[in-house]
Amino acid sequence: MAMYARKRDGKNGMQIFDASMLDTARERHEIEQYIECGLKEDWFEAYLQPIVSLSDGRIAGFEALMRLNHPEKGILPPAKIIGIAEETGTIALVGERILEKAIHNLARISLLDGTQETYLAVNFSPLQFEETLPHKLAALLLKHHISPKRIVVEITEAVLMLDNPHIHAVLKQLSEFGCRIALDDFGTGYSSLSYLNRFPVDIVKVDQSFTRSLSTGTADVRRKSRMLIKGIRTISHQMGCTVVAEGIETKDQWELLRKLGLDYGQGYLFARPMPIENMLQLLETSSEAKASNLA
Ligand code: C2E
Ligand code: MG
Ligand code: MG
Repeated sequence: MAMYARKRDGKNGMQIFDASMLDTARERHEIEQYIECGLKEDWFEAYLQPIVSLSDGRIAGFEALMRLNHPEKGILPPAKIIGIAEETGTIALVGERILEKAIHNLARISLLDGTQETYLAVNFSPLQFEETLPHKLAALLLKHHISPKRIVVEITEAVLMLDNPHIHAVLKQLSEFGCRIALDDFGTGYSSLSYLNRFPVDIVKVDQSFTRSLSTGTADVRRKSRMLIKGIRTISHQMGCTVVAEGIETKDQWELLRKLGLDYGQGYLFARPMPIENMLQLLETSSEAKASNLA
């Protein structure tokens, strides 16, 4: 058990066994089973969180976020699932299922008035960039009458760091097909600026830690955070990218980010990720409210 734990965290080292490894192994095994069952029994769902225009708060699109809805355990978040699904190789199937559900959800939303221009952002693991992905995506879009222009492929720099020509080719194909590419969690990790140059990136998503740092810490730290966000915005805009802020929880953060010139944002202030039924309800009530304001 100690040997496998060591291998998982990068090989070539030493690991002393302790009893907590048993719990970890048990939990891992359980989650592997949930994933297998979830695929068979249809427990996976694509929750949606709105992405709004910072200038007026209008919904521009939605990010699909994976949830495993276990009949007894309840909702399991992606943090518990993705790493294990990547290790066991089930991520390709899980990702495909989420993609299918998310596109279906967008098709349902598109039946409502005034939503035909909204977009759908889907997160992808590096292991999902198989040669067949563009074809599978094209077939799904055709089935649901959705234009590829409404799809955003969200990747993290982990995808680009692999510097795999095969992944590069798939990204290029998706981009030529009309989909946009978003670089998620930007500003953490290595965040090499050259990625913006070497890959067909259209959208930069500024990591939620930046949004948080606008309202925490000393005045000096907050001032420097504003400078950093402004710098990322300037470079991104000059590279022709749209900028989205993640993790907006307060009105002050919204106001500051809007003043700093960011284009879009998402966060609990606007709405939490939710099942499609709740999202349809939210969109319906907000369009009814608009209609009654006009009347
Ligand atoms: P992400 O793509 O950066 O997604 C944003 C995360 O921030 C989501 O967590 C969302 O629920 C959370 N969030 C949104 N607004 C706020 C806020 O105002 N405050 C705070 N504290 N958090 C906020 P979630 O749903 O747990 O997803 C975590 C990560 O899991 C995602 O980060 C993404 O990297 C990954 N993920 C989610 N769904 C999928 C999927 O279908 N496939 C793959 N490969 N990865 C996924
Ligand atoms: Mg994302
Ligand atoms: Mg993110």
